[in-house]
Amino acid sequence: MSEPMISLESLTSTKSFDQLLATAKSGGCASSSCGSSAKPDDMDSAIWEKIKDHPCFSEEAHHYFARMHVAVAPACNIQCNYCNRKYDCANESRPGVVSEKLTPEQALRKVMAVANEVPQLSVLGIAGPGDACYDWTKTKATFEQVAREIPDIKLCISTNGLALPDHVAELADMNVDHVTITINMVDPEVGAKIYPWIFYDHRRYTGIEATQILHKRQMLGLEMLTARGILTKINSVMIPGINDEHLIEVNKWVKERGAFLHNVMPLISDPAHGAYYGLTGQRGPNAMELKALQDRLEGGAKLMRHCRQCRADAVGLLVSDRGQEFTLDQIPGEVTYDASKREAYREVVARERGDHVAAKSAATGMVKAAGSGKSLLVAVATKGGGRVNEHFGHSKEFQIYEASPTGISFVGHRKVEQYCLGGWGEDATLDGVIAALEGIDIVLCAKIGDCPKDQLTGAGIRATDAYGYDYIETAISALYTAEFGVEPLAATT
Ligand code: SF4
Ligand code: SF4
Repeated sequence: MSEPMISLESLTSTKSFDQLLATAKSGGCASSSCGSSAKPDDMDSAIWEKIKDHPCFSEEAHHYFARMHVAVAPACNIQCNYCNRKYDCANESRPGVVSEKLTPEQALRKVMAVANEVPQLSVLGIAGPGDACYDWTKTKATFEQVAREIPDIKLCISTNGLALPDHVAELADMNVDHVTITINMVDPEVGAKIYPWIFYDHRRYTGIEATQILHKRQMLGLEMLTARGILTKINSVMIPGINDEHLIEVNKWVKERGAFLHNVMPLISDPAHGAYYGLTGQRGPNAMELKALQDRLEGGAKLMRHCRQCRADAVGLLVSDRGQEFTLDQIPGEVTYDASKREAYREVVARERGDHVAAKSAATGMVKAAGSGKSLLVAVATKGGGRVNEHFGHSKEFQIYEASPTGISFVGHRKVEQYCLGGWGEDATLDGVIAALEGIDIVLCAKIGDCPKDQLTGAGIRATDAYGYDYIETAISALYTAEFGVEPLAATT
């Protein structure tokens, strides 16, 4: 299978940028469905306009668009048992390290530098490392400065919700269309096992009194956002034995109050992070437990399954974090924003997406028509663009899709350690990758060597590079139909 004429690489590499621009301006492209809309049929146009370029609010957009977080808000007004702020953490619940905290002025410089280099950039988020609403002065100053320089960038915040009701009106005034609230409970008794204290209205509260206040403020904030038409994503950390069953109730509550998405994420618990749960042996769920809960939640508030639990200073497509390329010491003292790359990228992506949607729809139709009644769990190595375009050994994660009588769905991702470095693969690393792929039927990748392929086979997991550079769904439908005795679709290039 040959690489498509418009690949992710051609969309983003500096070398081919002039060609890309020429292609975009001339209107020429490889697409067979230029200009067709990628909007799902069952989605309201106004909502689609808000989410079509947001990699977190649209699973489809995350193949094409990038976000960046700026770590301008270090202060927090609550304590979560999964967070150690000395180590770092964010409302997104990923206890990763923030390389550096920024002032709003430094953040502006960084955003412009990233926008000049990463044409996929569409969203600026503030997700800690503390709470964006509690550290409001810095959040607001950052958004105001960035919006003046890059008016089309989407502004997004993540908050624990305690201070949210105080700032909803200002968020609406600043055209912030996307807000994430971390809601781990709607029962303060459950909350008391997650939050030891909160700081509210100039004093510290503990126990049930604390979680009653937090719960009321979270629900109020959500209702206020819904009333203003701001799209809300709810993040919930799944903590086995504490709130896993309870998240079914949380899902109902947030749906009733207009949440747009519910993102159930696994607790990341490691004693090395120094957080209470890590130190006391509270475990996180494994991939299959998370999927089982997410499956039970289907039919309630719409689920987000593609969250990567990013660092509070992440940069780039969700599939790859380029944050370390944009530390302050690598950014010039003076930066001027140049919109041309982002504009050209959008023009080309609009065409590519139309093609992708048409291919996806045909692939889903094939799987449904197969009528086999069986399911296939597929792990895909991808660098973005919705294609099978990453080598097995270079993957740092696999995207997981399920093909079943209801169609083809993205059901999550599995992070792995990169197996092949400098042309060599370590057996111990491969063992870890194979363990992470537990339960997977088939791996799809752009290239795979005989050695890892054989070891995967030994573990009961098949792997193939026969569909390299195809659209993911096209490749899966071909596998599915071949597996269950129906004629496969022709591959798309
Ligand atoms: S709200 Fe975020 S920053 Fe604050 S304690 Fe919880 S996880 Fe940490
Ligand atoms: S943590 Fe999840 S929601 Fe936040 S930017 Fe990363 S992928 Fe998006």
